[in-house]
Amino acid sequence: MSKMEVKTSLLDNMIGVGDMVLIEPLSEDTFIENLKKRFDHNEIYTYIGSVVISMNPYKSLPIYTAEKVEEYRNRNFYELSPHIYALADEAYRSLRDQDKDQCILITGESGAGKTEASKFVMSYVAAVCGKGQEVNKVKEQLLQSNPVLEAFGNAKTVRNDNSSRFGKYMDIEFDFKGDPLGGVISNYLLEKSRVVKQPRGERNFHIFYQLLSGASDDTLKKLKLDRDFSKYNYLSLDSATVNGLDDAASFRTVRNAMQIVGFMEDEVQSVLELVAAVLKLGNIEFKPESRCNGFDESRIKDKNGELIVGFFSSQRLSYMSWQNSTILTDNSFEQFIINYCNEKLQQIFIELTLREEQEEYIREVIIYVADFIIVVILNPTTVYHNAENYFSGLLIHLSTILVYICPLHVFCCLTVYHSLLNVVYVVMAPPTAGFQFRASVGTLMKNLLTKNPNYIRCIKPNDKKAAHIFTDSLVCHQARYLGLMENVRVRRAGYAFRQPYEPCLERYKMLCKQTWPHWKGPAREGVEVLLKNLQVPAEEFAFGRSKIFIRNPRMLFFLEEKRRQ
Ligand code: ATP
Ligand code: MG
Repeated sequence: MSKMEVKTSLLDNMIGVGDMVLIEPLSEDTFIENLKKRFDHNEIYTYIGSVVISMNPYKSLPIYTAEKVEEYRNRNFYELSPHIYALADEAYRSLRDQDKDQCILITGESGAGKTEASKFVMSYVAAVCGKGQEVNKVKEQLLQSNPVLEAFGNAKTVRNDNSSRFGKYMDIEFDFKGDPLGGVISNYLLEKSRVVKQPRGERNFHIFYQLLSGASDDTLKKLKLDRDFSKYNYLSLDSATVNGLDDAASFRTVRNAMQIVGFMEDEVQSVLELVAAVLKLGNIEFKPESRCNGFDESRIKDKNGELIVGFFSSQRLSYMSWQNSTILTDNSFEQFIINYCNEKLQQIFIELTLREEQEEYIREVIIYVADFIIVVILNPTTVYHNAENYFSGLLIHLSTILVYICPLHVFCCLTVYHSLLNVVYVVMAPPTAGFQFRASVGTLMKNLLTKNPNYIRCIKPNDKKAAHIFTDSLVCHQARYLGLMENVRVRRAGYAFRQPYEPCLERYKMLCKQTWPHWKGPAREGVEVLLKNLQVPAEEFAFGRSKIFIRNPRMLFFLEEKRRQ
């Protein structure tokens, strides 16, 4: 695609506007309408400045090919139509060429496409960074960590057939040439309770089904396992198989991935033995016996079982008590802290977006505009003002809640206002878990704040996991939750559009005799001459060090219009 066609696609009305800051007029309706128009044309990526909105298409699109990688490689962010590769390329090049640590924050609700997005970013970086044998090995290991993590940490839920039941932070280190040296993956909050109980219509972690479906008869015999899911209490029966998921094939992928990641064969065996042991533990049933030495005694129901003397009553040990338990409601403590983590990420998003705008203006020496940020914060009609109260409110709320959690297994209900939804949680955990979690989220946030942020905001188009369906109300809810409109407003409050001088001159030089066909001096001066010649009012522009800043999107339309004449 030529540059000209591409640029037009940012503004092309047929397929919607590629950058939300260019929407005229801006309202929630036009915002959603633009997303829908683009979604209908398989344009699943849209920018808000440098932020990428990603709509889950729920179908595979031919936009992640090796040719696409080449197309986006070493190109400026706005040069081509919006794509997750453009963000990956920008982040990678800033890291390699300017030695700036980068972080990519991928947010969105369950099923919105975060995991898929992270894989696209990883595979893009893997494709464009160095080759050599050693580097290839590191790349393979990083990429193959995904199937392993997903087997043990993902499960089918009502919202997503491959839902990550843990938070993942992956740190990839690069050397000065931009070649990956290795990575560290930190996992947060694996939903361990899923092992013993799954909500209706959901499954346990994939690995259990993969092992039973994909292991050879011989392996299963060694592990003393039966291929039949229904033999195991921990494997819910109503949704044992999932459309589109081939557990047996996945098992082979996972085994292979474990090898690549670096597991020795005997370690793989040990892991599989552990998985088998968990399945068997789930089938143990206990019955109460008479009290012995002041303690409850429980016996395994099966007469041949070993005697267990412990400090627990049979009520706590038996599988049935879990089955009937009210402890694990839909919104468990785990869900609460996951939401808390998301709120913190949202908070950081707001902080960093503002900071980034401010920094860019300072970097480009456009001092005056720094004021607008204060205006945005003080304007009570924007969410920022509310968000501030909201977040500090949540924190106060949270500490109170944690202090009140009583260790005596008395269940307290609490309602926390989460992004336009009231969610009732049942508290079940000792305060230490909450505090520990807060501390680890705190460390994560601090770490993120030291890096240059890049954002991918994922949105799911419908609740049916289906292609071609765009439910306005659902998309609108997510756009609000993610604060996307405010994000656009922040961008537009100052200078809506910015572009380095060279591509700007290249694109519009045809509009002025002095700059056409070649401008001999520095690009910045060329752009100045060009704009003066077009009699564009001076207040519509600001000249930064390396970029031209355009205040109103209409100015850009004006220039585009001129080009077409
Ligand atoms: P969770 O929070 O539950 O882990 P998630 O945001 O990670 O959810 P994904 O697992 O990435 O969601 O996406 C859910 C499903 O949507 C994928 O399994 C895939 O079928 C589909 N999907 C997501 N993104 C894309 C894409 N870009 N192209 C095609 N299909 C996609
Ligand atoms: Mg996921």
